Amino acid sequence: MHAPPAPVVVVGAGPAGLAVVRALARRGVATTVLERDRAAASWARHYDHLKLHTRKGAAALPGMAYPPGTPTFPRRDDVVAYLRAYAARFVPDLREGVEVQGLTPLPAGAPGTALRAAPDPAPGAAGWRLATSAGDLTARAVVVATGIASAPFTPAIPGMDAFAGPLRHAAAYRDPAADAGRRVLVVGAGNTGVDLALGLAGHAAAVDLVVRDGVALVPCPTALSQRAGMLLQALPPALTEAALRRVRRAYPELGLPGPSGALREAFPVVGLRLVEAVRDGRVGVRPGVTAFTERGAVFADGTEAAYDAVWLATGYRPAVAWAAPWLQPDAAAREGVRVADGAVALHPLGFVYPGVTSWLQALPGAVGRVAADLAVRESSRPGA
Ligand SMILES: Cc1cc2nc3c(=O)[nH]c(=O)nc-3n(C[C@H](O)[C@H](O)[C@H](O)COP(=O)(O)OP(=O)(O)OC[C@H]3O[C@@H](n4cnc5c(N)ncnc54)[C@H](O)[C@@H]3O)c2cc1C
Repeated sequence: MHAPPAPVVVVGAGPAGLAVVRALARRGVATTVLERDRAAASWARHYDHLKLHTRKGAAALPGMAYPPGTPTFPRRDDVVAYLRAYAARFVPDLREGVEVQGLTPLPAGAPGTALRAAPDPAPGAAGWRLATSAGDLTARAVVVATGIASAPFTPAIPGMDAFAGPLRHAAAYRDPAADAGRRVLVVGAGNTGVDLALGLAGHAAAVDLVVRDGVALVPCPTALSQRAGMLLQALPPALTEAALRRVRRAYPELGLPGPSGALREAFPVVGLRLVEAVRDGRVGVRPGVTAFTERGAVFADGTEAAYDAVWLATGYRPAVAWAAPWLQPDAAAREGVRVADGAVALHPLGFVYPGVTSWLQALPGAVGRVAADLAVRESSRPGA
């Protein structure tokens, strides 16, 4: 490793990691960023036809707008170029190609820590040692911004091994032309599953989408803009619920069941084009898959259908295995990841996916909280 560690190490140079570096610099805290690939690596690997469903004004990180001429809803390559430009402008110590593989708390007073020897049993109080592909380094505090994209979640569904065609997670999806002429099943009706089904509809021979738990369709970006999403969150719950019901209307008649609980608590699936595609017959709707067979799938309503290929748009989990046991995925935790009891100076960032508003819109708030906590800690340490 080519330079002594900065006080704070940020792991991951996606939007979360990049934004927190700028926020900390504004509070006088220097950082080192460790990124196993290149900045914006997750976005560079996303599928070719991906566009943000967030307007560029709301999707921009604090301190820098998207350049003039960028489409209102930036394409994947616009996002990658923007994030790399942001890194070049705001991230002075970005170490690309360095993978973090393990995390251990330093003993109080250990060499290399800036804290004076003081008996403090809290793990991390004296800092952390990061085992990396480029050797070990120490940090007074660590921000974990490794995202979800590198930890795709694949449910165990009976018969998966028996299915004769390709059965892959959506993380591997790039180009719908690769499925030209195939009968394709997309499992999962979140934003990715809906986007895949719509993208495949122009290429595949037939596309079915599994809608298991109901879709909270938000007709964005037309009637309900992302800004309206923020306003909705500020309304009393009953008003938000009523407004969402109004825009959602009667999708169940198309075989698109709504969410079982409150709409405002359901994850929003953005875009009305699914409704049109279902109405036109370009995308079929199926209930949950109970099993795969050699040639197709069996569904919860007892029906069976033949497919040539399956995409599992079944989500992701926080990519924090390298930080065990100090961090564990936990959807119920405030930060989406649970920090081990008593551990300090360890800050997960970016693992919470908000309801009505978009992740990128919610990011500055989360970044501000982490940066403020860290700045207080840095300024109150002995010798600061
Ligand atoms: C397909 C898709 C579409 C999305 N579209 C939108 C949208 O339209 N609007 C919106 O608001 N949000 C959207 N999101 C959600 C969110 O904006 C993105 O997931 C965003 O990239 C999250 O940023 P991040 O910094 O948390 O993680 P990432 O962008 O995944 O960055 C994490 C970084 O950490 C690195 N890394 C991982 N592990 C290690 C390690 N052990 N050591 C070193 N480096 C490591 C990775 O290489 C990566 O560069 C979308 C998400 C997906 C998956």
